[in-house]
Amino acid sequence: MSEIEYRLPQKRAIVTELPGPASRALDARRRATVAAGVGSSVPVYAADADGGVLVDVDGNSLIDLGSGIAVTSVGASDAAVAEAVREQVGHFTHTCFMVTPYEGYVRVAEELSALTPGDHDKRTVLFNSGAEAVENAVKVARLATGRDAIVAFDHAYHGRTNLTMALTAKSMPYKTNFGPFAPEVYRMPMSYPYRDEAGLTGEQAARRTITQIEKQIGADSVAAIIIEPIQGEGGFIVPAPGFLPTLAAWAKENGVVFIADEVQSGFARTGTWFACEDEGVVPDIITMAKGIAGGLPLSAITGRADLLDKVHPGGLGGTYGGNPIACAAALATIDTMRALDLPARARHIEELAMTRLRALAADVPAIGDVRGRGAMIAVEFVKPGTTEPDAELTKTVSAKALEQGVILLTCGTYGNIVRLLPPLVIGDELLSDALSVIEDIVRTAA
Ligand code: PMP
Repeated sequence: MSEIEYRLPQKRAIVTELPGPASRALDARRRATVAAGVGSSVPVYAADADGGVLVDVDGNSLIDLGSGIAVTSVGASDAAVAEAVREQVGHFTHTCFMVTPYEGYVRVAEELSALTPGDHDKRTVLFNSGAEAVENAVKVARLATGRDAIVAFDHAYHGRTNLTMALTAKSMPYKTNFGPFAPEVYRMPMSYPYRDEAGLTGEQAARRTITQIEKQIGADSVAAIIIEPIQGEGGFIVPAPGFLPTLAAWAKENGVVFIADEVQSGFARTGTWFACEDEGVVPDIITMAKGIAGGLPLSAITGRADLLDKVHPGGLGGTYGGNPIACAAALATIDTMRALDLPARARHIEELAMTRLRALAADVPAIGDVRGRGAMIAVEFVKPGTTEPDAELTKTVSAKALEQGVILLTCGTYGNIVRLLPPLVIGDELLSDALSVIEDIVRTAA
């Protein structure tokens, strides 16, 4: 692994109460002008960020275990990304690829063809957000198959646009009162080893799902199955081994497009470039966003050429999709990920964090499960001796972590999961410090 150079000191340093006076002043201005519907889980305002730290407007240096929800995998100010952006801005900021194309877009597509699983002929389209990528994967699947039905899963999260709200499982806060939702979306059981009946294998869980698909929809009506290989917002749920390959094989046999939504799990996060590689699953279409461009808004779908090229010219695109600055950032991000071997770094983070969190779980009955892969790690809190979710304790743990200078996000259908999503460039010492903070808090709070 190459040495990582940092611009900011990689240390936790609290110099004011949290949030401090400058953050509180900004927050008062925000309340008067930014709509209440936009939430922020951490009440401090950012001034700078690099490697594993985020410095707030009061000068507090916090350990970032969130990466802006799995986005800044190469850090929030990677030198190569910053330089690529500066260089591109000096030439052109936008032409619209649908008007005057440029090489950066083509190069990103070439990279994604090479990086995504499978050596078949592939095509790529670039967009701005994860939700937009998901919407377009579904458009392609419907057009290519001539079918309507889309299968999504319990605990799924796919976005906040109308179709992706329909695909998303959780009502509050994502869907409540925002309907009516897009039709022809069917929700099926996920494999959730911690909460499934004991001993249920991945293959059995997949058969249970397949039976329901065949009975409730009919295989011939299904355009696509869309699934997060490791679920993100729903609770970092890692399906039992065999679940994904069995579903993918059924999809293939039945002419159903298998879409892996790797918006959160992709781009080196789980120790491979994409989480579906872990079981050798080759999706027909893969959606990507978060880690792809070092924080710049870029998303993509890459998939089988025979599916994507069925769409007529003009059917896919958007004014900003594949913006040249975002493409330059993506190319630099991919270079950095390769140079630092960030998939290996994610596996190293797993080793460090899992060992300590599993030891903690052995001592703390309120920890029901510790799971995840690479640098996508979750701790599920329950009432001791039961599997009843403990959302209150989860909130307490993340609030107390912030007080001590650690940004720790929560997730899960039941709101009872803390998730670790550090930048992959976080140093061992900083990560160890954050883990010590979490251990102390959990031991005391539980
Ligand atoms: N799919 C998955 C798996 C996600 O985790 C997210 C974002 N959390 C999305 C789609 C939506 O991405 P965006 O917020 O960029 O629209």
